Amino acid sequence: MATIGFIGLGNMGGPMAANLVKAGHRVIGFDLLPANLERAGAAGVTPASDIAGAVAGAEIVVTMLPAGAHVRQVYTGPDGILASAARGTLLIDSSTIDVASARAVAAAAAEAGMAMLDAPVSGGTGGAEAGTLTFMVGGDEAAFAKAEPVLQKMGKTIVHAGGPGNGQAAKICNNMVLGISMIAVSEAFALAEKLGLDHQKLFDISSKSSGQCWALTTYCPVPGPVPTSPANRDYKPGFTAAMMLKDLKLAQEAASQAGANTPLGAEAAQLYNLYCSQGLGEVDFSGIIKMMRGDGSK
Ligand code: NAD
Repeated sequence: MATIGFIGLGNMGGPMAANLVKAGHRVIGFDLLPANLERAGAAGVTPASDIAGAVAGAEIVVTMLPAGAHVRQVYTGPDGILASAARGTLLIDSSTIDVASARAVAAAAAEAGMAMLDAPVSGGTGGAEAGTLTFMVGGDEAAFAKAEPVLQKMGKTIVHAGGPGNGQAAKICNNMVLGISMIAVSEAFALAEKLGLDHQKLFDISSKSSGQCWALTTYCPVPGPVPTSPANRDYKPGFTAAMMLKDLKLAQEAASQAGANTPLGAEAAQLYNLYCSQGLGEVDFSGIIKMMRGDGSK
């Protein structure tokens, strides 16, 4: 069993670190928020008072931080991981961040003699608690092989997506499809309502036809057809609209840097921006159907 440093013990990182403890690893954790450090301590994580304390003696370091700026700071800052961890430490960043930051930090890690993987996840806090996350991993083959058994303690599906940054690329491409398709499904139900077509009838037909997609069959934005979807609990998340907006913005940033043409991704980002600007960022992202109806309902 390994000694693992874990930095960022929030909604996702807390339960992920707890699953590593349950698997028998020695986990040393650090978070800026004392309440999160305390909660992780109750789950068996040994609390450290700074980054250096969390990475001392660790063979592997996992980070789960809000955004690219935090990741850059925690890795490359003066008292950061690259300045504190031993050469040869395997670094795994599971935060969802921009591809450019992921590649820049991985390059800085390589210069410091450490292999680094970007390993963002999907599956939300439920998946983090149940240990059923999907990891999309970018980085070299040898580092992936070493990380895989550890990631398996926090997730169910572990996919190697290619070189550095490709985990983040996979995450934002997938979530761009999801954001666009949720809007498409919402528009279809809003149109069906105006045409007098029953929700269940549209679902029964479309879920067996060419309109079939995850946003329809697993996460249906109207109550009824899929009893487990957030629409049945007044759009309690799930996956918040603010998180979807974050990922759509990351996709747009990457598209503009790479010169890719993503007009529907751009439109989806604008629509989620409008939705969040109405104070609805903490509502599930499928709640956007209310805005698509265009009748002022929130
Ligand atoms: P969170 O805000 O609950 O947790 C982030 C933690 O990082 C906080 O506890 C914060 O105090 C800590 N932190 C920030 N800066 C720090 C620093 N310099 N040193 C130490 N700790 C620091 O966020 P979360 O919901 O756990 O999300 C984490 C990441 O996972 C994000 O990138 C998010 O996009 C991604 N993600 C979240 C979900 C979800 O459903 N919540 C799903 C998939 C991916």
